[in-house]
Amino acid sequence: MTDLFDFKLKSSGFAVMGNPVQHSKSPQIHRLFAQQCGIAIDYDRIQVDAGGFDQAISHFSAHGGAGLNITLPYKVKAWRFCQQGQNSLSHRASQAQAVNTLRFENQGGVFGDNTDGAGLVADLQNNIGFSIQDKSILVVGAGGAARGVIGSLLACCPLRITIANRTVDKATALSEQFGDDVQGVGLDRAADRSFDLIVNGTAASLAGQLPGIGGKCIAKNTLVYDLMYDAQPTIFMNWALAQGAAQAHDGLGMLVEQAAESFYVWHRRRPHSRPVIDALRRF
Ligand code: NDP
Repeated sequence: MTDLFDFKLKSSGFAVMGNPVQHSKSPQIHRLFAQQCGIAIDYDRIQVDAGGFDQAISHFSAHGGAGLNITLPYKVKAWRFCQQGQNSLSHRASQAQAVNTLRFENQGGVFGDNTDGAGLVADLQNNIGFSIQDKSILVVGAGGAARGVIGSLLACCPLRITIANRTVDKATALSEQFGDDVQGVGLDRAADRSFDLIVNGTAASLAGQLPGIGGKCIAKNTLVYDLMYDAQPTIFMNWALAQGAAQAHDGLGMLVEQAAESFYVWHRRRPHSRPVIDALRRF
């Protein structure tokens, strides 16, 4: 891992920037993708302290940096950075108001994208085999991760999306960005009906907690997806299966798929995700 301003790139390079970043699997994922595609890359971890984010990006760029993944807690800061000067944003990053991928353009300026939603959709549809079209979806949480996935889910034409959050105002504010097909409610209202797909986008699993939705939102056909991933099934996955959910998945597939989408943004090559997901499960 490299600290702020202490990184020297050997060639055009890539990195994940955040705090903390020592746990990040991104270097491993991007190296496996690069091997597959026969591309030589440097991919590092850069830990940035609060207040040093903009400077760290400029420094990275000045030292030959070609692309960055941005992780907690800087995705919103990266979105703001891309609104300055000759920088630009993709539609999905503008919609999410958060950026997880930066590409340093040859002619100057930085392009900001958000590949989290595309990663979730690719994992659901391509790896798990779940079609989103015409399905009722509950997204639990209204933080950065939830904001990043709503637009991509909506683009797949679900029947409806309900956002349930502990702080109700954040759920309603987020739903209002997306029009009538998205409704924002409190956690207590999440169990008014059952859903085909439930996405846990809260940070509760990280703390070993359940987000506090009632079991009535789960029917025997419900597929549950926790954005968190771990070596073991998460507390939310175990709870959902005990309530009778048909399937429960963690967010490792999304992590690899969002990385594949970032890889495409940088290299215009689409790597195969499946062998990388399998390799990470074995480590
Ligand atoms: P944020 O801090 O932006 O948002 C946290 C959300 O969780 C808020 O909606 C918050 O509610 C809610 N929350 C936190 N604790 C609890 C609790 N105990 N009970 C109920 N709700 C709770 O975090 P992110 O959105 O960035 O991340 C959320 C999760 O998604 C993390 O586990 C992260 O690791 C994962 N993630 C996974 C990715 C992947 O590729 N698999 C990509 C991005 C994120 P409130 O608004 O009321 O505070």
